[in-house]
Amino acid sequence: MHQQGGCLCGNIRYVIDAEPIDAGFCHCSLCQRASGAPAVAWMTLPYTGFSYTEGKVATYPSSEHYQREFCPRCGTQLAFRAQTEPQFIDITLCSLDDNTAMEPGYHIWCASKAPWLHLNDDLPQYPDAGPDSY
Ligand SMILES: [Zn+2]
Ligand SMILES: [Zn+2]
Repeated sequence: MHQQGGCLCGNIRYVIDAEPIDAGFCHCSLCQRASGAPAVAWMTLPYTGFSYTEGKVATYPSSEHYQREFCPRCGTQLAFRAQTEPQFIDITLCSLDDNTAMEPGYHIWCASKAPWLHLNDDLPQYPDAGPDSY
């Protein structure tokens, strides 16, 4: 896929030139707190297919081996990297200019799903990182 995206205020822009590996909803407590939302839809890509084209992101180590990247001006969460899996990067699906480009295929970390969020899709739900975690 060839896609562009960026943050709410336009300070940060990025380009994707790679086939995504997959996409899914994460219901973990860190994503919830980082976004203020019940879940975040992420798309996983080879990191070589992603680059920032405008602006400079701020980073936050949300846990020991993980880094979240966001706009320092408007706070939009854009990317997630794991030191343990440096060949991949996760991008927030809704920071894409065209968020119809890829659909989530699963729900992970459902053990911490907001109890008032009712899922009525047929996607698999995993209590933890799921079978495809890396
Ligand atoms: Zn911004
Ligand atoms: Zn998460």
